[in-house]
Amino acid sequence: MANQSNKDRRQSLYDRYSNNLNMVKKCLGVIVASGEGDTKIEISGNVYICPLCLNGFEESTLDQKHQNPLTLEHIPPSSLAGRPMILTCKNCNNKSGEKLDHLILTSFTAEAFLAGKKNMPINAKISINDQNRFSVSAEISGDKEFEFLAQGKNPRYARSQMDSLKTDWQNSRMKLSFQVPAKGQVAIGLLRIGYLRAYSFFGHALLIDANSSRLRNQIQNPNESNLPHAGVFNLNPGINTKDGVYLIKKPIRSYLVVFTIGRNQYKEQIGVLIPGPGVEGWNDYLTMTNILPNSELIINYITDFNCIDEFGFVDGYFQFWFLAFHGKP
Ligand SMILES: [Zn+2]
Repeated sequence: MANQSNKDRRQSLYDRYSNNLNMVKKCLGVIVASGEGDTKIEISGNVYICPLCLNGFEESTLDQKHQNPLTLEHIPPSSLAGRPMILTCKNCNNKSGEKLDHLILTSFTAEAFLAGKKNMPINAKISINDQNRFSVSAEISGDKEFEFLAQGKNPRYARSQMDSLKTDWQNSRMKLSFQVPAKGQVAIGLLRIGYLRAYSFFGHALLIDANSSRLRNQIQNPNESNLPHAGVFNLNPGINTKDGVYLIKKPIRSYLVVFTIGRNQYKEQIGVLIPGPGVEGWNDYLTMTNILPNSELIINYITDFNCIDEFGFVDGYFQFWFLAFHGKP
């Protein structure tokens, strides 16, 4: 798989998920249509639905010269060791994706830096004796060793400021400042990753459920606060949890998507709650606020269930999506 070209990868993802959509249409009697009101026309051929905007895309949109082509979406972002797992349209990939991914990266790097981790450079500003600030890349490079590299448009100013330290070292004051993004925004970025990872498993069964539209609405509007909670938490680093998707059975029923974000040798495992289908799924999801983080969860790793093997990836999860919430397996 490693040498599969991006073009081939896009094609195989298109085939896999458009087949899944055909199966969902057949099993659930879903109609995929384009246009509005009286002009609505049913689309009968193969189509891929972007899991963020829910627009349908025909195979010709795999051509990257198309005005809004289907693009590879890395989960998590490639800057945090993600792999291309699904397709999203270019508009969605660029619009919400880049900004939220950047916030996650900035937050991850700042936390590592504050925790004293080595070789995790951050973009910072330095001011000496309350003079104008200049940009640096700062990092911890060894035990009690701290390194910074002047950046920006005015290296001469940075140098003159640093030189001023030599003349009166003892009475000098150096201030280092850097940005740490707001936690709420970072959580929505992580929710976006969890939602897309859930789609990679469950396919269109997830998209047609009303609960997922609530998550999408929050992801597409990261500045608003539309959900009772983002359902995002860091997993305890001591616990050996496999990445993937879990069914939480008790105290409530919900899905849990687990993925790892990493940079250099540092890794963090994140869990994102995805509500199960229907009214029950949503009610349980709402209850979750009262349950985290101290209660004991009883969870099953879904990938071990037979139906996944029997029906194959994505379509197997589709079977599971419904079975799990109706008493089986
Ligand atoms: Zn889209």
